[in-house]
Amino acid sequence: MEEFSYARVGDAPAALKEVHGDSRARYLAGGTTLIDLMKLNVETPRRVVDINHLPLTKIEVTDGGVRIGALVRNSDMAYHKTIRTRYPVLSEALLSGATAQIRNMATLGGNLLQRTRCSYFRDLAWGCNKRQPGSGCAAIDGYNRSHAVLGTSDKCIATHPSDMCVALAALDAVIATQTTDGGGRRIPIGEFYVPYGDDPAKENTLQPGELITAVELPNTAFFAKSHYLKVRDRASFEFALVSAAVALDIQGGTIRAARLALGGVATKPWRATDAEKALVGAKAEETAFAQAAQAALQSAKPQKFNAFKIELAKRCIVRALSTVTAMA
Ligand code: SF4
Repeated sequence: MEEFSYARVGDAPAALKEVHGDSRARYLAGGTTLIDLMKLNVETPRRVVDINHLPLTKIEVTDGGVRIGALVRNSDMAYHKTIRTRYPVLSEALLSGATAQIRNMATLGGNLLQRTRCSYFRDLAWGCNKRQPGSGCAAIDGYNRSHAVLGTSDKCIATHPSDMCVALAALDAVIATQTTDGGGRRIPIGEFYVPYGDDPAKENTLQPGELITAVELPNTAFFAKSHYLKVRDRASFEFALVSAAVALDIQGGTIRAARLALGGVATKPWRATDAEKALVGAKAEETAFAQAAQAALQSAKPQKFNAFKIELAKRCIVRALSTVTAMA
């Protein structure tokens, strides 16, 4: 591990000041990604700024919905009464991730910035455009069973690993930040993650030093009828092969509004807008669900070892939609 300096700060201005102008500074929250990657020499920050004492640990119910502080721990979020009752898809996604110990440490802000679990990214012996731009992608000709089928480029095919972010994508989340010039932004989650394109090292639209302070969820009534279904190789402490976050507004047997996002199959939390369009106005029954699943995966591009994900994702979507329909 390379040497680094450590600073603990107590408020956002101090945090922003510590990282300003230093591209190798990193914020430390729960540390469940950063410390792992530092031990592997994948992340080599020069400066680590501990933000755990910032006052960003509240879940506030507002007129517009819910505002969740960036340092709220995954466990606290998952078991919060408002999250469980008004956004069950988020609670279920959180509880499907990692282990109880990790959920007790991991934070909302850190989860948004979770790095891929591509094994070539985590091993310095292999070429990886995401870790070292221009060094190639060992996964494209390697063992790519866990990799993406949506949103890939010829530079990178890595999946985004988070469960929580898939639920946030379905829930129209907005990410609030503070910037180093003293301002702030509100970024819809659909504009937060960027396509890999030529530079898979760039994963989101955060500016250097920009600090995530909260996530806002809208007060949308039908989000109470929502569900997260995760399919994985084992029942615990495992990343998704495929997952689906679903919310439906069904009136008189007809779907009035739909939200569908996918995990485990794409390079970012994947909002399946074509599938949502196919669902709106349709009868809430399996024929429509199968058509929506087809629409969601129509642009999928398999690699040598992961073609099974396409059919698995379709079945996952149909099952998740059926489950939510049964709630209505
Ligand atoms: Fe690196 Fe992406 Fe290729 Fe994995 S898939 S080796 S993260 S470039």
